[in-house]
Amino acid sequence: MASIYLCGPTVVVPPHIGQIRSQVNFDILHRWLRHSGYRVIFCRNVTDIEDKIIGRSLSEGIQWWRITDPVHRSFDRAYTALGCLPPSVEPRATGHIPEMIELVEQLLAAGHAYESDGDVYFEVDSFPDYGALSRQRPDKIRVTEENEHGKRDPRDFALWKRAKSGEPIWHAPWGDGRPGWHLECSAMARKYLGHEFDIHGGGANLIFPHHENELAQSRAAGDSFARFWVHNGPVTHRGEKIRKHARNPLAVHTLLDRVRPMELRYYLSAAHYRSPMEFSPEAVEEAATAYRRMERFVLRVGTAPGSELPAQFSAAMDGDLNLPQALSVVHATVTEGQAALNHGDQESAAGKCRSVRAMLNVLGLDPLADDRPRETRLHDVARAVLRVVRNLAAAEGDRERSMIMERQIDRALKNRRESALIP
Ligand SMILES: [Zn+2]
Repeated sequence: MASIYLCGPTVVVPPHIGQIRSQVNFDILHRWLRHSGYRVIFCRNVTDIEDKIIGRSLSEGIQWWRITDPVHRSFDRAYTALGCLPPSVEPRATGHIPEMIELVEQLLAAGHAYESDGDVYFEVDSFPDYGALSRQRPDKIRVTEENEHGKRDPRDFALWKRAKSGEPIWHAPWGDGRPGWHLECSAMARKYLGHEFDIHGGGANLIFPHHENELAQSRAAGDSFARFWVHNGPVTHRGEKIRKHARNPLAVHTLLDRVRPMELRYYLSAAHYRSPMEFSPEAVEEAATAYRRMERFVLRVGTAPGSELPAQFSAAMDGDLNLPQALSVVHATVTEGQAALNHGDQESAAGKCRSVRAMLNVLGLDPLADDRPRETRLHDVARAVLRVVRNLAAAEGDRERSMIMERQIDRALKNRRESALIP
């Protein structure tokens, strides 16, 4: 068995491409472990209480859950559109306040935390390994939280924030308030995966302070916590981090106007998960072209996927999920299959197609997979209809009719995507 805890999204605005990259990368890890014979318990949390959510709720004058629920659904739709397998469990922070309170009580009792005027802080100095995960010396730790009054040391971080006007509150033995963000993951990982689990994942931007703080809290409370840490690289745009805002041109639902879901998944899979990616429409178009080449071959030959994977592909996957190398094996096999087709060697082409589909299945990219998302199927049907319309119009020499139909189909698909992906 293998257990994975992945830091899920803070559900404040619909997902952008950087956030969805993490999910696609860990979906491939999930699929590969399953393929390798592990029973996988995959826990991905939802952060539904946090400063940004409260900030939006206060500025828009609506309850926090009126933001988090629809945004959570938009994440779900994006995961499904991009073919991510559902997690084994998807706990929400607000459903686990008693577990968080229990953890804070343990830390207080063990002398790793202190209460100050209703706030509770973790005392960094009480945990000698603090900074090891993010490779920082204890005396040179970057300070990320405001130095609120009542903190003994600027490096200390909040486990519990006392009630403030207009904010949601829960009762705790030391006073009403709400949990700190880092605490959520430690409590939920313990509840679903136990005191020790295999892999803790998330974006590299979470290493510090989020994961450093999770690790300190959990270890200080007596848990062994994660055996391995896996972090995916960021997606940047014009060299900068992609910001979370409501009208983001790099939101997944906006990008899916220009590119099919499987093409976007291919784009996000093709770089090594640890490498940073610089987003550009040209790079997405290039990835889409590469995906269509494999797709054309599979659709043309159409044999069922085989059960054997080429040894080079498996070696690349076992080598820290080396997707660039694994995909080069897929492309080489497509080239061989294409050559066999050109020579009229159907049998050999069928063998190559079985192999290509087996590899694409593991990557969640098989164009003919039974579990393809509904949106993808809809797209495929619409495209097939479009082809028929074009052929008919060409046969009748009626270009105008073809263009009107194309526009109608395009608009219908766009409306459908918007209603499906935007909260
Ligand atoms: Zn987390």
